[in-house]
Amino acid sequence: MKKALINATIYKSEKQAILIEDNKILIVGMNEDVLQQISDSDEVIDLNGMFVLPGFVDSHMHLVGLGFYLSCVQLATCTSLEDMKERLLARLSTLKQGQWLIARGYNEETFTDAKVKPTKDFLDAISKDVPICVTRSCGHSMSCNTKALQLASMNESKDGIVEEMDINVVHEAWPKVDESTLIDYIQKGIACANAFGVTTVGSDDFLSICDSYELPLNTFEKLSYQEKMNLRVNEQCEFNDVEEFSRFLDEGYTFDVGNDLFRIGPLKLVTDGSLGARSAAMSKPYHDAQDTTGIMNYSVEEMQTFVQLANQFNMPTIAHCIGDRAVDDVLEAYAGNVYEGNPLHHGIVHCQILRQDQIDQIIQKKLSCYFQSIFLFTDAAIVENRVGEALAKSSYPYKTLYENTIASNGSDAPVEMPNALLGIELAITRNGMHQEESLSVEQAIDSYTIKGAEQLFMQDRIGKIAPDYYADLVVLDTDITKVEANQIHEAKVMMTFMNGEVVFER
Ligand SMILES: [Zn+2]
Repeated sequence: MKKALINATIYKSEKQAILIEDNKILIVGMNEDVLQQISDSDEVIDLNGMFVLPGFVDSHMHLVGLGFYLSCVQLATCTSLEDMKERLLARLSTLKQGQWLIARGYNEETFTDAKVKPTKDFLDAISKDVPICVTRSCGHSMSCNTKALQLASMNESKDGIVEEMDINVVHEAWPKVDESTLIDYIQKGIACANAFGVTTVGSDDFLSICDSYELPLNTFEKLSYQEKMNLRVNEQCEFNDVEEFSRFLDEGYTFDVGNDLFRIGPLKLVTDGSLGARSAAMSKPYHDAQDTTGIMNYSVEEMQTFVQLANQFNMPTIAHCIGDRAVDDVLEAYAGNVYEGNPLHHGIVHCQILRQDQIDQIIQKKLSCYFQSIFLFTDAAIVENRVGEALAKSSYPYKTLYENTIASNGSDAPVEMPNALLGIELAITRNGMHQEESLSVEQAIDSYTIKGAEQLFMQDRIGKIAPDYYADLVVLDTDITKVEANQIHEAKVMMTFMNGEVVFER
């Protein structure tokens, strides 16, 4: 059966209609061109002038983490510790025997009372018997009560605040997820992404809530073979250590193995923490906390071992870097391991705190850049405090990266929601920060469509509205190229098509 979308306003096109056959676009033409090609049994959808874009590509997020986040106590709108306490108590009363109280998403910078993280004592006052874990919005800091610390054998933590790799130690103590729970999280994450018009993601899932890669990998493979995924997932593969990565490669997995619903993407290294939690690795102490320079999770040598092993299997490496010391170390680990012109697309995820000399090296090496303009929603207010005016000025250089490297946009969900429209808006407005690095509206849209496709080596089949491309489309009520930039987030996703099917409808 065919589907004809007529009376559409199509991004970057003078045409007004799209004919879909099965999962692909057959024709982009005028209404009459398309209507001529259909029979009575085909479907005609009149879009009444609505704006059609390629489905959004969120090039870095955590799909399982997003689904999990949507299932636990959500604290993104939490305004104070008192408010947090109420929300935790409300969930506590619904828990069954053996369950943990798990919450996520607070940001103490937005609290109206003391701007502090919850501590062990605060959480013990909520319960001493039920283990409680509260993760900060960035995912790099977790507060635990005494019971949770005991079960994780982390009793040495005085204030109950656990950071970086130690968070994985707590995760290991959580009740094990089984396949059906994982499927539930994946499907919740997919539904959320579709509602924001997202049809393809680069997603880092192996260690989000599981101890190792096997269960998430097998579950994604199964769902993709059964065609039960309304989202294309390009897996950014994170491992506990090099031995585990070797085991994965020995099993025959490497970059590009899979299908267009689930495919193995690059090796992912989480090298430092976050700016919000002051755990991002900085070359100089934090401007607003002179006693700390953040945390590095790997030595340069450890990273080199990973990168060289990935290179042997033609697998790109992408490294999470927020602070400039993390970028220094990653550039050192990449030295000699990135081939001329960077054909494998080795890259840097986040690209936040950067010095000019590092930007020059990133451009010279043609490193792939995965940025999240949506971070400016919260970071614009704190970056100067954290790193000082001089370093803030060369940070978040989105336009420079966009114009000189392969750069794509994303949300890092569940750090932020996969709200591509807000991301597009902030790539333009930058929330008032250093306007010289603003993208044009077309660049901002492309950073969420064709550039994302390019980043994932899928530019021949997604990211564009053209014949033979997958019918992955998003329909908006507003032509966002024609409104003031600060109104883009008000546009509504009316429909999302993925593989020719309607997967979201308002
Ligand atoms: Zn991430």
